[in-house]
Amino acid sequence: MGAKGWFVLKLLMFQGLFVSRPQEDFDFFYLVLQWPGAYCDTTRACCYPTSGKPAADFGIHGLWPNYKGGSWPSNCDPDSQFDRSQISDLVSSLKKNWPTLSCPSNEGFKFWEHEWEKHGTCSESVMDQHEYFENALKLKGKANLLQTLTNSGINPDDGFYDLKEITNAIEGGIGFTPGIECNKDPERNYQLHQIYICVDTSGTEFIECPVLPRGRCPSKLQFSKF
Ligand code: 5GP
Ligand code: 5GP
Repeated sequence: MGAKGWFVLKLLMFQGLFVSRPQEDFDFFYLVLQWPGAYCDTTRACCYPTSGKPAADFGIHGLWPNYKGGSWPSNCDPDSQFDRSQISDLVSSLKKNWPTLSCPSNEGFKFWEHEWEKHGTCSESVMDQHEYFENALKLKGKANLLQTLTNSGINPDDGFYDLKEITNAIEGGIGFTPGIECNKDPERNYQLHQIYICVDTSGTEFIECPVLPRGRCPSKLQFSKF
């Protein structure tokens, strides 16, 4: 091959590495689950969805593509707007498992739209909109967090529990170490707010977290009632 041929080949390889790489490339997902009792027990408070008070269970916050260095992509495709007609078969399950608690009260579409546009559009190389929501729902079912915690004697009863005890219980259930995030109630007690579970790039299998989020939890935290 002549010099020109090499040049063209190198140019193609360079493009392959940097230019044609999909914008929505990422290393893993966080499945983020929120405890409604903690979302609501803050000075800002919360609003129940129009369908009424959600069950006392963890709800989905989102399925978030992430880089193993700790940063993450967001809002990757402004051309892929949220389209509720694509998830009409999932709406009843979303209302139950991905309820919105922000104010003012609404059905939930705003929350789902926000999560799709901010995070979901960054995983379009592996799943479409229907699969994004379907995968999140399946993963939430598979994690079965509340059952796992209550089986270990950890109940949403306003009691204080060891961070280590909570982490170990979940690890016993799903096989991998979760990230635990706290927020503060109006009395400034730290409480269990969100649980992060890592998922492979196919969006179906739990994995060990390449990087854990900074959780802001002290060694003893409250598991608030809801
Ligand atoms: P906060 O500052 O409340 O922790 O996060 C605000 C928003 O930033 C989250 O709702 C989420 O959309 C995004 N975010 C925060 N931390 C992470 C993270 O570790 N990974 C990803 N992918 N998004 C995050
Ligand atoms: P993120 O923090 O993922 O960027 O997005 C959270 C956004 O979704 C905020 O704008 C928040 O107002 C809205 N949102 C609606 N319902 C909920 C909910 O139940 N929990 C959380 N964390 N955010 C919600």
